[in-house]
Amino acid sequence: MASKNPENQTVHKHANEKTSLRLDQTNFDQYEYDILQVSRLLFLAFHCPKSYAWINAYYLAEQIFSVPYGSTICTTVLKAVNAACKSRNCGINYHDTNCEKCKEFLTDEEYYFIGTLHQIRQNNKSGAKVNAMLLCEGSSFDEFLQYIFELSNIANHVVDLSRRNLSGGKNYELN
Ligand SMILES: [Zn+2]
Repeated sequence: MASKNPENQTVHKHANEKTSLRLDQTNFDQYEYDILQVSRLLFLAFHCPKSYAWINAYYLAEQIFSVPYGSTICTTVLKAVNAACKSRNCGINYHDTNCEKCKEFLTDEEYYFIGTLHQIRQNNKSGAKVNAMLLCEGSSFDEFLQYIFELSNIANHVVDLSRRNLSGGKNYELN
């Protein structure tokens, strides 16, 4: 049934398969993929506060990473998203993490966001800066980079402990 209230119209457009980058075309690992899914809920929360999507973001992070890492990770992602949004003149394009089809694709902004984390974890600082600069549209990206650096540090703890099943049975690989 169609709603007369424009805010209630949820017309979902799938990602364009021909022009969108697929997640499996990147070399992101499981940790980076999981951070992406949490980030998407926070992009939604910033874009549409009435969605209360930050609650789902914390819930998802705690499901994936367990106590105490889930909430710490989610808070750090939230700070990174906030820093990126402050630097950008416009919002962040993101895919709906609830859509099984779309969640396998990446927008440019999602790619720069997770790409920054990936490059830091590869110890490629200049690569991380390029991704951060592209995401923050050239304006100050130091704050964003700092939070992504923290996410990278947390990964070291999560990855070690997850070998004993702390992360829901997933095997993280550190490069
Ligand atoms: Zn979709």
